Amino acid sequence: MRAMILKGPGVLEPGEVDKPTRGAGEVLVRMTHSGICGTDLEIHSGGIPVDYPRIMGHEMIGEIAETTKDGPAIGSRVIVDPVTYCGTCFHCQAGQINICPNGALIGRDQDGGFADFLAVPEANVYVLADGIGNKEASLIQVLTTCYHAQQLGPVKPGESVVVIGLGVTGQLHVQLAKASGAGTIIGVTRSAWKRELAETLGADTTLAPGDDLLEQVQALTEGRGADLVIESAGRVATLAQAIDLSRIGGRILNFGTYTEKEGALPFYQLYYKELLIINARAAKSDDFQPSIDLVKSGAVQLLPLISHEMPLDDLSEALETLESRTIDTMKVILRH
Ligand SMILES: [Zn+2]
Ligand SMILES: [Zn+2]
Repeated sequence: MRAMILKGPGVLEPGEVDKPTRGAGEVLVRMTHSGICGTDLEIHSGGIPVDYPRIMGHEMIGEIAETTKDGPAIGSRVIVDPVTYCGTCFHCQAGQINICPNGALIGRDQDGGFADFLAVPEANVYVLADGIGNKEASLIQVLTTCYHAQQLGPVKPGESVVVIGLGVTGQLHVQLAKASGAGTIIGVTRSAWKRELAETLGADTTLAPGDDLLEQVQALTEGRGADLVIESAGRVATLAQAIDLSRIGGRILNFGTYTEKEGALPFYQLYYKELLIINARAAKSDDFQPSIDLVKSGAVQLLPLISHEMPLDDLSEALETLESRTIDTMKVILRH
């Protein structure tokens, strides 16, 4: 079968590999669409170490080509949950299957979806509802991670929510907060068109970071600051901003992935404001069906977040497009 093979940092080539054979309890999925994640960029550049050769890709949509006795029917359209877990360790027994130390991310720790076929455990596929297109469905895996995060730090009806960073995940957080009945939703980013998009997707106000950001947020929250700040940019500087913008007794949901090793934070405010800081890493199986339902009901829109659609063979070009971080790049979807 055709696959995009990463042979070393920055060395990505199309090639032919054996079609995977289905193990016991596994289904074979014929891939139709996949999304490219920041994690793929990191794997591609060598920032995230993997064993080579590796087939990347963990935002995966396809059709069932071979199935198990009780599995979905042949031809069913499915989304693949890329997280595997052992089911027997301390964490799995405690219900923390998403952070199982024996688990793996398909597309990083084992071969993933940038190929024609993929064999996965039947428990890792979810049938897509009619009315959800395969192209937009590639984004549901991203939505599950945001949904999981907001389960850990729930939005209460009427609360004020600030979302810092309005890339794909920030736009999803805005929509999820809206669906949970948030009061005032404020989006923060430098990009004018991302602010505009967030306003069409549920943000009441959007602001550019600047000297008067704190005053503006206070003015919109009766002088208190936000009940919940969702940090979706992943920088120490934006985490510091989140601490500033939270109200006394407020909550911060860290969704961005921090890779910096040092930086300045207003530590005293953590104590003085008695802030609750919540971190989120990966989705659980339980997050998939509610996420599919949110898309089906229209509460969360995915199509507006797709800026590019390209054939799988153009993966290298797609990665370059994302790496260039041009102002109008959002989600890139690959057509298989
Ligand atoms: Zn990802
Ligand atoms: Zn486990």
